[in-house]
Amino acid sequence: MEYTYIVVKPNADERAERIIEELPCKVEKVALHVSLPREFWESFYVVHRGKSFYEELLDFMSSGNTSHFIGYGDGVIKKVRKAIGATDPSKAEPGTIRAKYGRSITENAIHASDSPSSAHFELSVGLTGLLQYGYIDLKRFMELKERFLGGEEVKHA
Ligand code: GDP
Repeated sequence: MEYTYIVVKPNADERAERIIEELPCKVEKVALHVSLPREFWESFYVVHRGKSFYEELLDFMSSGNTSHFIGYGDGVIKKVRKAIGATDPSKAEPGTIRAKYGRSITENAIHASDSPSSAHFELSVGLTGLLQYGYIDLKRFMELKERFLGGEEVKHA
């Protein structure tokens, strides 16, 4: 089953439940309003390591709470990417989540996976981190791992 890892970012976290209802997919709530340290975001965003905006992105993501969800269903990755809009909220189509709730390219309200391989990596790192920092228990971790990752090996943060 196709899935996407969704994070409501600190600038929009207070409205996470409302924002998630605007997405065109079924959603599994994983963790609401949780604070994760910079080290977690270093792993989550490792693909951007070395880029000019990396440090600012890590500072921002660890500056407040975030909410974590798994969207699932046919074609969910593309559908959700369309609904959240362009990375830069000032360029996002009117009505998209980033156009409505984003403040800047860093504070752009929401993250959603851009490919099946990113979704797999982000779900693995996300679940592992949420377990490590005590926001989900081992039973829930195993249940979500089984349901979305099947027998696949989980990447460690
Ligand atoms: P996304 O898939 O649309 O979230 O964009 P990327 O995967 O390319 O980047 C991850 C996140 O890094 C984005 O959501 C932005 O918050 C931030 N980001 C990306 N590109 C830039 C940039 O050029 N400048 C700044 N300040 N932040 C950026």
